[in-house]
Amino acid sequence: MAIIIKTDKEVDIIREGGKHLATVLYKVKDMVKPGISTKDLDIYAEKLIREYGDEPAFLNYRPAGVRTPYPSSLCTSVNNEVVHGIPKKTQILKEGDIISIDLGIKHKGLFTDMALTVAVGEISSASKKLLKDTEDAMHVGINAAICGAHVGDIGNAIETFAKARGNYGIVEILAGHGVGKEIHEDPFIPNFGKKGTGAILKKGMVIAIEPMLNMGTKNVVLHDDDYTYSTADGKRSAHFECTVAITDGEPEILTKI
Ligand code: MG
Repeated sequence: MAIIIKTDKEVDIIREGGKHLATVLYKVKDMVKPGISTKDLDIYAEKLIREYGDEPAFLNYRPAGVRTPYPSSLCTSVNNEVVHGIPKKTQILKEGDIISIDLGIKHKGLFTDMALTVAVGEISSASKKLLKDTEDAMHVGINAAICGAHVGDIGNAIETFAKARGNYGIVEILAGHGVGKEIHEDPFIPNFGKKGTGAILKKGMVIAIEPMLNMGTKNVVLHDDDYTYSTADGKRSAHFECTVAITDGEPEILTKI
């Protein structure tokens, strides 16, 4: 698939959708507390999305090669789960947990994608550092997404930053991506790499930048549910994601309030 350049008008719609998405995700974040189930968060997210007149992007999405469509609106990945955890009534959050909430919406026919990792009550200082370093790594990646730069410059910036902050495993098999007409478009945007490699960033590209940092190994395992990835060593993982437009100046975060 070729990289799809968006018109200014399409970017305007994606920005509008991004504002809805960020509003919904921050409201879901505020619901995170000990005793709530991940399914409760999903039900709340879907309700809010539909109140805006938008559609959940992940619900019924079926990636190539997967047997069943994704059953929820929200992805909820707790502690050692990395991404794409399926919300469950039986999965109750506890004090000290961390949870990644990842959400996509379709607004006026165009998609946006965003994720945050959130503390459940009080968390350890090591977990706090993991969350801060992963969020900061995302912003370092966004700052590298300059018109004329390469996709590899984003990954290189994230990798260099993450390695300076700690002995993190940077997940390699999952990555950022183009977004807009589809929830997943080209280019694939790894969170590691070499400067000056990969596609050149052009004005009108809209991309999701989403580092996943693990406290231990970079290796992940896929569960039998076909969706949930967790760390191979059982250590914790964090994930932050924004949808970003490439402009002729600074990159613009589209998923914000
Ligand atoms: Mg994404």
